[in-house]
Amino acid sequence: MAYTCVVCVKQVPDTAKVTGKAMKEDGTINRAALPAIFNPEDMNALEAALSVKERFGGKVIAVTMGLPAAAAVLREALFRGADEAYLVTDRRAAGSDTLATSYILSKAVAKFSPDFVFCGRQAIDGDTAQTGPQIAEKLGFPAVTYLEKLDVEGGKVVATRDIGTGVETDRVALPALFTVTEKFGELRPADVRLVMKYKNFEPKALSCDDIGCEEGRCGFAGSPTSVNKIESVVLAGKGFKEIPADDEGIAALVKELRDERTIG
Ligand SMILES: Cc1cc2nc3c(=O)[nH]c(=O)nc-3n(C[C@H](O)[C@H](O)[C@H](O)COP(=O)(O)OP(=O)(O)OC[C@H]3O[C@@H](n4cnc5c(N)ncnc54)[C@H](O)[C@@H]3O)c2cc1C
Repeated sequence: MAYTCVVCVKQVPDTAKVTGKAMKEDGTINRAALPAIFNPEDMNALEAALSVKERFGGKVIAVTMGLPAAAAVLREALFRGADEAYLVTDRRAAGSDTLATSYILSKAVAKFSPDFVFCGRQAIDGDTAQTGPQIAEKLGFPAVTYLEKLDVEGGKVVATRDIGTGVETDRVALPALFTVTEKFGELRPADVRLVMKYKNFEPKALSCDDIGCEEGRCGFAGSPTSVNKIESVVLAGKGFKEIPADDEGIAALVKELRDERTIG
């Protein structure tokens, strides 16, 4: 069985380098003020798609929504083994929140009738982790979040997902969408032959009309969220204390917090 995998990859500002100029007056990010990089967990999502192609056959299609400069992440995807790459770019998409972004991306993804859709768990600029599950909802696909491993058995995907305190294994019918974490594994390196082949690649640009978006659901018009302020907050701990995970340990912690008048 050969599978069509669509992977959503986002070009993001390197938020490790946030300064006071990181935001524009309208509450959108000032992309010119920060270096642009491939969203880290989208690399893991791309690896998941490439591993499905490698094991079961099929193809990998990379899709991004952004300014023309976002073509850089599509070239990176092609260097790693993606077969096709498309850029959704349109003035009408500017200012999209996750509701509008997921609507536009769902329209683009649907064009390829995928079996698997992979997204990163979250993008490092907006940080919401909403886009993947919202794309799934709009496509009517099951969404499996925090994917760290997958297999296919009897036509169903056996997906292992991180649930914080351990892992959960789900059996999922295709088509389905998966959001992928770094635990899935590092993206393979670029293949030098593919770099030579695609170094000047310019993706096919898709407009909102090309993918059949409704007017009022894109960009500012389709976005109920506006961001008021971005701040870089560094949390610095002064030390830590290990609490035994048993009744005595918890009781001692509560007593200490009471004695210090932190609680109570
Ligand atoms: C500081 C800040 C805060 C924000 N807060 C909010 C908010 O609270 N609510 C809100 O609705 N919007 C918010 N936004 C806007 C939000 O960044 C955009 O809607 C964005 O397009 C998608 O949201 P995200 O960055 O949180 O992505 P996430 O939902 O974290 O992204 C998950 C995955 O979806 C895929 N994906 C996301 N965007 C794209 C894309 N353009 N192209 C291809 N794949 C993509 C990637 O695979 C990515 O790993 C915020 C933006 C900023 C800069």
